[in-house]
Amino acid sequence: MTRAMILGAVIGIGGLSLTVAALQAPPPAGPTPAALAATKIEKVKDNLYIVTGTKPMPREEFSGGNTAVFITDNGVVIVDTKLANWGQVILDRIKTVTNKPITTIINTHTHGDHTGSNEFFGTTVESIVQENTKANMEKMDAFKGDKAKFLPKKTYKDRMSLGKGKDQIDLYYFGPGHTNGDTFVVFRALRTLHAGDMFPWKDAPFIDRNNGGSGVEWPKTLSKVLSGVKDVDTVIGGHQPVATWKDLQTFQQYTADLLAQTQAALKAGKSVDEATASFNFSKYQGFESTRLKAAVQAIYDETGKK
Ligand SMILES: [Zn+2]
Repeated sequence: MTRAMILGAVIGIGGLSLTVAALQAPPPAGPTPAALAATKIEKVKDNLYIVTGTKPMPREEFSGGNTAVFITDNGVVIVDTKLANWGQVILDRIKTVTNKPITTIINTHTHGDHTGSNEFFGTTVESIVQENTKANMEKMDAFKGDKAKFLPKKTYKDRMSLGKGKDQIDLYYFGPGHTNGDTFVVFRALRTLHAGDMFPWKDAPFIDRNNGGSGVEWPKTLSKVLSGVKDVDTVIGGHQPVATWKDLQTFQQYTADLLAQTQAALKAGKSVDEATASFNFSKYQGFESTRLKAAVQAIYDETGKK
């Protein structure tokens, strides 16, 4: 929706302040009934589940990203912790499938809808992020002052493995995209990858340049995943249903196509609006374009022109 259309809608219903406030509203402070209903535990494979997340809109259903739950011999490893105030719900859902304690948190990246409930799990759990993500988290109010004790304890640069045999988890960093610290988490024996917001939804991605993200690098980074990670068939994305390796290949092609079309439009002197209106992504089945303009703007900004 364009700003003019929103304004038109606002004036149309005569509730300017209310509607603007709703558009700018922060996520709910805790679980609403709609968000709780959208948050289920689903089996992915054997000892791997997700506590489902949602897309950021509609706001009242938003709980954060998909949380992976991996039950190992030594305890439960979770990947991403949703928004703040969702820890108890995550724990309650996990308790329906195992009595083992949560021993480890991995965050795919810095955003509050993936790190928000780290605090709930306390300071005794092991917590791991890519090193750039730790630096990004240090800038967040949620991890400043007294709360710095909830920052991840362990970092890695390019690659790290945890556990052995059926419990092995491989962490990979392949370069910038959504942020400059996106981890790809591979549950080796289960041929499953959690790709976080590098594979968020079927729409243009959010390129967070304030945290080092890059629309120019995104397709290259995903290419490195596709060539560098072997033997995966199942992919957990940031805010979408469980998908396949082929779906990740399609999303990589989408990001490459988005970059190529945006750079061509820039070269042709088109404005962001003209560029967005001229694009055709109809070959990508089921993809929406609600986030296209913001992504085009981010690539224009990154490339250094209007
Ligand atoms: Zn994110």
